[in-house]
Amino acid sequence: MKAKARNNFCEGKNIAIIGSGIGGLSAGIILTQLNYAVTIVEKNPRPGGLLRSYRRGGLNCPVGVHYVGALGADEPLGRMFKILGVNVTDFFEKMGQDGVIDRYVFDDFVFDLPAGIDAFAAGLRKSFPRETAAVDFIMTNLREIARRMMDPAFLINQGDPFQNIDFFTPMGEVLDKLSVSPHFRAVMGVPTQLIGVPLSQCPVIFHHMLLASYLFSSWRIRDDGDKLADLLARRFRELGGKIILSDAASRILSQEEKISGLQLQSGVILPADAVVSAIHPKALLGLVAENALRDSFRQRVLSLQETEGVIAVHVAVAALSRDAVKHNIYRLHTDERGTILDGIFYQLKPGANGDNLLSIITRSLYREWRAWENTKTGRRGNDYVQKKMKIAAELLARAQQDLGNIKNARIIDVFTPLTIRDYVNCPEGSCYGLMHSADQLLKIASLNNFPLPGIYLTGQNVVAPGIMGSIMGSFSAARQIAGAEKLNKLIGTV
Ligand SMILES: Cc1cc2nc3c(=O)[nH]c(=O)nc-3n(C[C@H](O)[C@H](O)[C@H](O)COP(=O)(O)OP(=O)(O)OC[C@H]3O[C@@H](n4cnc5c(N)ncnc54)[C@H](O)[C@@H]3O)c2cc1C
Repeated sequence: MKAKARNNFCEGKNIAIIGSGIGGLSAGIILTQLNYAVTIVEKNPRPGGLLRSYRRGGLNCPVGVHYVGALGADEPLGRMFKILGVNVTDFFEKMGQDGVIDRYVFDDFVFDLPAGIDAFAAGLRKSFPRETAAVDFIMTNLREIARRMMDPAFLINQGDPFQNIDFFTPMGEVLDKLSVSPHFRAVMGVPTQLIGVPLSQCPVIFHHMLLASYLFSSWRIRDDGDKLADLLARRFRELGGKIILSDAASRILSQEEKISGLQLQSGVILPADAVVSAIHPKALLGLVAENALRDSFRQRVLSLQETEGVIAVHVAVAALSRDAVKHNIYRLHTDERGTILDGIFYQLKPGANGDNLLSIITRSLYREWRAWENTKTGRRGNDYVQKKMKIAAELLARAQQDLGNIKNARIIDVFTPLTIRDYVNCPEGSCYGLMHSADQLLKIASLNNFPLPGIYLTGQNVVAPGIMGSIMGSFSAARQIAGAEKLNKLIGTV
């Protein structure tokens, strides 16, 4: 099978999806709703990928969902879940009840991200009274993108704002032109931390989409990511979908230039007319026959830069000694221009059994863990454990300085980029997969038209990272498979 034609709508009805993260599960639900016969294949024993949490010391520790934006009933993510037919609001608590969603703490000033776009505009005006032109410019674009996000075309990655070329300028360049102060630049730099792209490389569209989504409304995962993953898996099964667990996809099969099936590690062959890849695109390359893709395409994908990994420390904090904090806290350091150099994310939320749960997350480069590159989770040896526990202890000491009054705190778990790499099979344990930077955007966009007919991509790597971006990827894949007309009908029925 040679790479030539672009994907057309899928003619057959059997679809195999590789991976059961939010990308795979949402694609599965949409496609079963469109009357396809769908099987999801997941290498792990339980579905959900980064959605799942894990239990340590009696507390549920989140992995890839700390807070999401725009989950209100008429807001973009809320509408996406409504189309999927699941009510997830019980699993989240609405933030901003104390007026603050995120507190950005810099060395010499603090900025509170409030709930609501108008409140944000007011906050910027108050903090930057001499930069009204810059505030007005940013707010005009932000409101425009927020307005477009309410358009159903947004859900399927079509139409404006995606057509407006100005929105693909890097945010750093926009701020340069506006000659903003270092503090202004620092505040604008925080949202890009959430998708792992430096401000100088982050297209305006991603910056503003992310910011707008959290300003629409912000929701912190209440307790258990497992419940969220299980709800989506249950919905998919109720619609007639099948999930095969503990068996990895190992080969995409084709006959006469058409997809014919998916071979699993166990040797099982699933017949399929199309394959939806909800795994990292570099991992997908390994499943496609050597001669099926041009070498230049392989090299192009393999050379794409990953977002950085993180180290995450989970800490049980006696609730009697320290109340939960209703907002997230970012402790950030910048250079003299206001470019963020590093940051720590803190979330201190209610836990269980008399403990609150403190999550501490900060950047951790893959190369720092290179010595254990060829080891597997749980079998990396004492040196690795000592290294990660030393970093964790340092981070806890920093937390005690930054948050104050954390007594009787116990580190209950630490994960590194290697943990994430092995758990979901993403190269270098990258937190948000491929970096959606201005430099890479066209190459990443080309993945939406994978050069083998019958292979479609979803998940965080194609349209945008995060829970909302991954679901958008699934709408986009479903549009390619079933056509916009059928998909619009489905969206229109909700
Ligand atoms: C530490 C961390 C914190 C985050 N916090 C947030 C947050 O607060 N809010 C937010 O919106 N986003 C957050 N994100 C990002 C968000 O979690 C991801 O964008 C999203 O979950 C990605 O979903 P996915 O389906 O693309 O991938 P995944 O969840 O990685 O799913 C891929 C699945 O494919 C499976 N798989 C891989 N290879 C194979 C194979 N060969 N065969 C079968 N199965 C295979 C994996 O086991 C996995 O289950 C965070 C991410 C991280 C790492």
